[in-house]
Amino acid sequence: MKIIHDKKSLIKKIQSNSNIGFVPTMGFLHDGHLSLVKQSKLENETTIVSIFVNPLQFGKNEDLDSYPRDHEKDLDLLKKENVDIVFFPQDDFYHPHHQTIIQNSSIRHKYCGATRKNHFDGVLTVVAKFFNLIRPKIAYFGEKDFQQFFLIKKMTTDLDFLVDVKPSATIRENNGLAMSSRNKYLSQQQREKASFIYQALKRAKEKINNKENSNEQNISKIIKDTILELKSYCSSVEYLVLVDEQTLMEASIIEKNKNYRLLVAVQYCSVRLIDNLAI
Ligand code: AMP
Repeated sequence: MKIIHDKKSLIKKIQSNSNIGFVPTMGFLHDGHLSLVKQSKLENETTIVSIFVNPLQFGKNEDLDSYPRDHEKDLDLLKKENVDIVFFPQDDFYHPHHQTIIQNSSIRHKYCGATRKNHFDGVLTVVAKFFNLIRPKIAYFGEKDFQQFFLIKKMTTDLDFLVDVKPSATIRENNGLAMSSRNKYLSQQQREKASFIYQALKRAKEKINNKENSNEQNISKIIKDTILELKSYCSSVEYLVLVDEQTLMEASIIEKNKNYRLLVAVQYCSVRLIDNLAI
């Protein structure tokens, strides 16, 4: 496994390699990340994983400095998966006085973007830089961050990036809590209790899937009731929305032949947790 820190060496190493699978991460790897790596290993000759806590996607009062890091363990895990190249960009990843930002004009301030104002701009910009440097054939993103997956897919379509952006299912703890590097901020007991998010999503899904509930009034009541249920376990519910998967716009009714998804973000024990479930 080759570990590369600078862009020039990376470009030299992958010159004219046209069969690259790419998995961008912020490190502190868990089974969710590794499921993307395994998928890439199966489908590509060369797999590149990046580990970069991207400052551009963190707000001023967010956890950029305290974001969990364990590079040694990450490298061990990636070695075991037979990853070909790990790209660990350094401070010079962004050019001095970087000024160019990619924005999705429709979603950037919705859902997670409502409280994390420049978050999605930072995500799109760093991923665009990675795509330009690495030129992967396929890039893998977890459905755990469904809004992120949607926005990256949209960017590649809108801007004609020649990369196939593939989603990968959310990997969960035994109790249903979606795996996340930020779960480290929770104690074991808090993690156990955090299963309430997935349980609430599953109950809401069951009700929404009941054909008698597909009208506007019932959907609205299910969402309100689920918010109340979530609120009984955590300090606040940032959002719970039903969206059309094709547009990520809020849906008020269920129509045949369309795919929907529930998106949620809560504040629980001072940790912001997100999850989602396909309907
Ligand atoms: P992160 O390191 O949090 O930026 O995540 C890197 C990639 O791993 C993103 O595409 C995430 O969506 C994906 N990922 C994170 N957690 C999970 C999970 N529990 N299941 C599947 N994919 C995940």
